[in-house]
Amino acid sequence: MKIGFIGLGNMGAPMARNLVAAGHPVTGYDPVAPDVEGVLPATGPAEAVADAEVVITMLPNGQILRSVAGQIIPRMAAGAVLCDCSTVDVDSARSVADQAAAAGLEALDAPVSGGIGGAAAGTLTFMVGGSTAAFERVKPLFDVMGQKAVHCGGPGAGQAAKICNNMILGATMIATCEAFALAQKLDLDAQKLFDVVSTSSGSSWSTTAYCPVPGVGPKSPADNDYRPGFAAELMLKDLRLSQQAAESVDADTPMGALATELYARFVEAENGHGRDFSAMLPRLAARGHSGKSSPD
Ligand code: NAD
Repeated sequence: MKIGFIGLGNMGAPMARNLVAAGHPVTGYDPVAPDVEGVLPATGPAEAVADAEVVITMLPNGQILRSVAGQIIPRMAAGAVLCDCSTVDVDSARSVADQAAAAGLEALDAPVSGGIGGAAAGTLTFMVGGSTAAFERVKPLFDVMGQKAVHCGGPGAGQAAKICNNMILGATMIATCEAFALAQKLDLDAQKLFDVVSTSSGSSWSTTAYCPVPGVGPKSPADNDYRPGFAAELMLKDLRLSQQAAESVDADTPMGALATELYARFVEAENGHGRDFSAMLPRLAARGHSGKSSPD
């Protein structure tokens, strides 16, 4: 399948590389990122999409997606599918789908879970919104770049699934970190708590697959001085999208709101930027019951 790929950053570059390795011709465009081996470089977005059957975008946010979509939709070939894999707000995903439909094109919102490691290994999970026909057409490419693709519903359903999942993740990571921080002050060994929780009702992915305690559970960013992994600022981005969505449909998400507030403080005022999102553990461990930092 001829592919146009726009946005060759941390995620886009390895995804494009996997498509090339699977034998698909890929023409790519990114104003900043260096050339990706095997990807034919285009001089601009229009050239990247000109004769593509599927156009994939992997961009920082909804505003940039809307701007790129405005440039490429009029240049895309008849019958081509626009598949956006970025994490953006539901409204931007729906607006791009409407714009594509008005031009007689199909669009999918297909955000991913699995991070840079999953992008490199071709083990991403895709959550996809759009028509069944468009999903089936792009499915072979999802199978190259990932291990699972779930068709979640119509336009915007993929982004809705992504932010709901990450709102659960943000809140459970904080709950997991505060429990391990409390255990430490109660003189309960972290390994013992892991042994109990990992097979008990408090269990979640945050404990079993990504334990925030160094040396406990499978290898995780905690074992690498909390280098990301999944950076705290990316979690904050997704939590903010969840709150934007909640506000737009008048949904009550108090845990999501508190998780957003805690990650905002961590990233913007407590040196959390550039650290893994599980570094909430040392942040909480350094505080007392009032929330203030303990004296050294
Ligand atoms: P990134 O910043 O590394 O890559 C984005 C790329 O888009 C950059 O190379 C940038 O130059 C390019 N870009 C910006 N404006 C452009 C334009 N007008 N035209 C073409 N290219 C343009 O970000 P990333 O880590 O690759 O993330 C991409 C998306 O995937 C984001 O929406 C992010 O939330 C999501 N995501 C990231 C991760 C992760 O772990 N990094 C995990 C899941 C989802």
